[in-house]
Amino acid sequence: MKINFIDLKKQYNNYKKELDKAIADVVVSGAYINGPDVKELEKELAAFCGCEYAVTVSSGTAAIQVALLTLGLKPGDEVITSPFTFFATAEIPAVMGAVPVFVDINEATYNLNPDLVEAGITSRTKAIIPVSIFGQCPDMDRINRIAASHNIPVIEDAAQSFGAYYKDKRSCNLSELACTSFYPAKPLGTYGDGGAVFTNNSKLKDLLVSLRNHGQGAKYAHKHIGLNARLSTIQAAVLRVKLKHYEAEIKQRKTVAERYNSLLKDKEVVIPFISEGHTSVYAQYSIRVKNRDQLMQKLRDNGVPTAIHYPMPVYKQEAFSWLDIEPDNFPVTEKVCGEILSLPMSPYLTEEEQQYIVSLM
Ligand SMILES: *Cc1c(COP(=O)(O)O)cnc(C)c1O
Repeated sequence: MKINFIDLKKQYNNYKKELDKAIADVVVSGAYINGPDVKELEKELAAFCGCEYAVTVSSGTAAIQVALLTLGLKPGDEVITSPFTFFATAEIPAVMGAVPVFVDINEATYNLNPDLVEAGITSRTKAIIPVSIFGQCPDMDRINRIAASHNIPVIEDAAQSFGAYYKDKRSCNLSELACTSFYPAKPLGTYGDGGAVFTNNSKLKDLLVSLRNHGQGAKYAHKHIGLNARLSTIQAAVLRVKLKHYEAEIKQRKTVAERYNSLLKDKEVVIPFISEGHTSVYAQYSIRVKNRDQLMQKLRDNGVPTAIHYPMPVYKQEAFSWLDIEPDNFPVTEKVCGEILSLPMSPYLTEEEQQYIVSLM
């Protein structure tokens, strides 16, 4: 049997008529930048997560950059984040001249361990960026409380968790600012790059809108040093179609994940742990295994692709060698990077396919 890691072709075929029309309408309209779909999408995204404002941008990485620009991040400032994430979370503070300060993760959820955040705070800490890894939010109440007691803003990196619940609120509506990504492989993905920043603060919203468009106020009147970080209208139109089906897809993703959980019950693997009161959108279905290389090989030989998210803590990346970080200070991250393995995940994975995958384990 040949299995897809994620099944974007099937998704396209399911919504083909709507998607083709949405794309063609933009092409015919000529409004390729700042077209009506962009504004409509922003309203719909904000409504979806119960937040006041969504400001779309050109990628999840750009979302982190414009969010940090609103805080006036300067060279020498520090940003606390997780070392168990995609590179961009720490890359953007660094490209702005700031220093990422890593805090080890929780062994059950792989999210930032709130117990360790306080010790990472210094007089130079300008932001805390918890990452909602694999689709589940960390303990945001505790992280927000610690941050508030030091007057430090929190930016949720929700690139993998758009749509997840934390208690009665949704990811992207849990902190001063939140960033998500619409990279094709994310739970809600477009046909190119895309992202959004969320806030309930109207001043920050106005600043975000300006910063993503060269810091403009009125046309050719630049109030700030910003970026070209706009989401193109075609990507917005694609996302509006997919967003209509996203609630149903989240349910399907949960069904698929729970099927894996029960199929893997008697195997020597650690299945995902979802905290009480949280839900996950399962950006990845990631397990921990002791014999990872062997298992990946066997699955590959039998038509089952897998992936490692992530094989290396961010501080071990060559680009961060200047940070000179001691891995012994991150025992959980080190262990998880050595054992984590993502299985094929899509809303369309069938029970038969999942039985086949697990039969090889
Ligand atoms: C994907 C991802 C990003 C970057 O998003 P892009 O849209 O690819 O720029 C940032 N953080 C995390 C945790 C991600 O998974």
